[in-house]
Amino acid sequence: METDDRGCPKCGHTETDVGKISTTGGGLSKMFDIQTNSFRVVSCANCGYSELYRDTGSAGSDIVDVFLG
Ligand SMILES: [Zn+2]
Repeated sequence: METDDRGCPKCGHTETDVGKISTTGGGLSKMFDIQTNSFRVVSCANCGYSELYRDTGSAGSDIVDVFLG
């Protein structure tokens, strides 16, 4: 059982959706010599509140833990 003090920062819900955003090309990435930026998006399944995390290649479950606090 999860403890009750974990959950969405906004509504306290504990169900999340995790998505991925990739940005490629464009002037900024060229300027910084970065070809691909990947981010993971953790969204509350209840209220839709979302947080964006840079994809570091580590396991995706870590950021859910960060999101839920
Ligand atoms: Zn929420």
